[in-house]
Amino acid sequence: MRTVDIRRTFLNFFTDRDHQVVPSSSLVTDDPTMLFTTAGMVQFKPYFLRLSTPPATRLTSAQKCVRTVDIEGIGHTDRHTTFFEMLGNFSFGSYGPDEVVPWAYEFLTERLGLDPGRLWATVYRDDDETPARWQRIGIPPERIQRLGMADNYWSTGGPGPCGPCTEIFYDRGPEFGRDGGPAADPDRFLEVWNLVFMRHVRGEGGTDDDFPIVGDLPQACVESGLGVERAAVVLQDVPHIHRTDALLPVLSSVLGQASGSRTRSPELSARIVVDHVRAASFLLADGVLPGPDGRGYVLRRLVRRAVRHARLLGVESPVLADLADQVVDTHMESWPELSGHRALVRQAIAHEEEAFGRTLTHGTRLLDTAIRRARAESGTPEPSGPSGSLEPARTAGSSGRRPALSGRTAFELHDTYGFPVDLTVEVAAEAGLTVDTDRFAALMEHQRERARQARTSASGDVDVPYRALAERHGPTRFVGYDRHQADGTVL
Ligand code: ATP
Ligand code: MG
Ligand code: MG
Ligand code: MG
Repeated sequence: MRTVDIRRTFLNFFTDRDHQVVPSSSLVTDDPTMLFTTAGMVQFKPYFLRLSTPPATRLTSAQKCVRTVDIEGIGHTDRHTTFFEMLGNFSFGSYGPDEVVPWAYEFLTERLGLDPGRLWATVYRDDDETPARWQRIGIPPERIQRLGMADNYWSTGGPGPCGPCTEIFYDRGPEFGRDGGPAADPDRFLEVWNLVFMRHVRGEGGTDDDFPIVGDLPQACVESGLGVERAAVVLQDVPHIHRTDALLPVLSSVLGQASGSRTRSPELSARIVVDHVRAASFLLADGVLPGPDGRGYVLRRLVRRAVRHARLLGVESPVLADLADQVVDTHMESWPELSGHRALVRQAIAHEEEAFGRTLTHGTRLLDTAIRRARAESGTPEPSGPSGSLEPARTAGSSGRRPALSGRTAFELHDTYGFPVDLTVEVAAEAGLTVDTDRFAALMEHQRERARQARTSASGDVDVPYRALAERHGPTRFVGYDRHQADGTVL
């Protein structure tokens, strides 16, 4: 079953049960507690809280989501993408757990045809009714696990509606990991669907495992989230999420271009490239532009990581704009806003790739040397891979305290080469090193302070004429690195 068919089947199943289809909201949410839309329920928060009235008491949607918390794990788990689609059904006082639990089971086993013998469920540890609900429809007690708040008491991670949930998992079999259920191996026991019984209001503060509950919702509600890509992993019997039908053509294209690879994990790097270009394309189509902070920085960071992993794969010439085109092609049937913004998506990604490509080349050289020096000083062995810091391999046996790269190196990379510190941290971590980020922060603060003093001691605002000049002539580009060799001779 293709991704588009899974989505259509889901929405039909719930319209047959009197749900009204609501279009996806933008990835850019106006909810001040979050940067991006992270779940199907986000656009409905005012309905749960009764701040406004829903168009119907039963709604269903296919929602575009971006989760920044998952970015670091992309390619390392089988089940996370940065951008994903969440299918959901919502009840605002219309039905409760007794209806939604059997529906979810019926949908998975009868409409998607999943083997009931492979389904597992988790429930909130204090929910004594839901295990019986699962048992009544055929999930035996040994495939039901009770977990704590972090796993089975859902909230957006900040203030707002929350409640106990029950999650449904599919056992992909021993070739995908160890036994012991979802609590033991979340990649083998793949979480596909989360049913949340919204009842309470989460307050400020706390952690996901222990947060304050400050009130009850005006009425008990239900909301659910089924990852369409996760369902596709199971139905298409593929090893990981980036090999499902919507992503495979782009992944194959990246792998096809990977020559002279400088990584031992081409599949990992290719997955990061595809994943990040896809998320970046959707963000651009929803109006996010690359920038130095907030949403723009997340977008910029996604493109920069994609550039770095493309280079790791040995793809030296700009490639991301063409990949973004492919993302548009493979997704526009469901998401026409992508094709509507094709030119913008291409141009913005091409521009970022070009700008960062230069930084990466120059910064990487310095970083390589610094990493080698730090390793030598601490007696950490070189990884046995084909090349220095470009090798994204975990250092074997790096137990105990890992040696650190100096804060000054990180500062120099940032200051001279425009190399973002989070990238320095990431590359260093892959080489088994930490970064002295405290020292880095102190040097940054020192520099800011000097700049402040320079401004106040100068007469008038010297920036103004420069700004006017820059506006008239456009930004200047430093070409020294391209035109001069290290010893100063002109190329
Ligand atoms: P996991 O524990 O696997 O990270 P989650 O518990 O964080 O998932 P929920 O917040 O319950 O996920 O979201 C509901 C559903 O959305 C999940 O059951 C899953 O199908 C899907 N989902 C969540 N995060 C991702 C992601 N990064 N990529 C793809 N699908 C996702
Ligand atoms: Mg998660
Ligand atoms: Mg989970
Ligand atoms: Mg979950």
